[in-house]
Amino acid sequence: MTVPDSDQVHQDCICGDCPSYPANDVWSYCARGKSDKEIERVNCICPECPVTDRYDLVGTYYCKSGAAD
Ligand code: SF4
Ligand code: SF4
Repeated sequence: MTVPDSDQVHQDCICGDCPSYPANDVWSYCARGKSDKEIERVNCICPECPVTDRYDLVGTYYCKSGAAD
C-alpha cells in the first residue's frame, strides 16, 4: 500500500533506531523513497514500526529499495 508523506508517518518512523540508518538523513523511506546515501543492510526494523501495521506493509529496507507500493 502507498504510504503518505505525512507528519504522522514521520513521527512514528523508527528508522533512527535502526543499525542500517545513515546519520543525518531524512527518514520515512517507505513514504519518501530510497536514500541518496550508501547504506549497508543490517537488521531493518520496519516490521516493528507502527506504520507497517497501519498500511499493511510487507517489505523492508525501503531506504535501499524505495517507497512501498
Ligand atoms: S516502515 Fe520503516 S521506513 Fe516506514 S516509517 Fe516505519 S521505520 Fe520508517
Ligand atoms: S528502511 Fe528499514 S533498513 Fe532502512 S533505515 Fe529504516 S528501518 Fe532501517
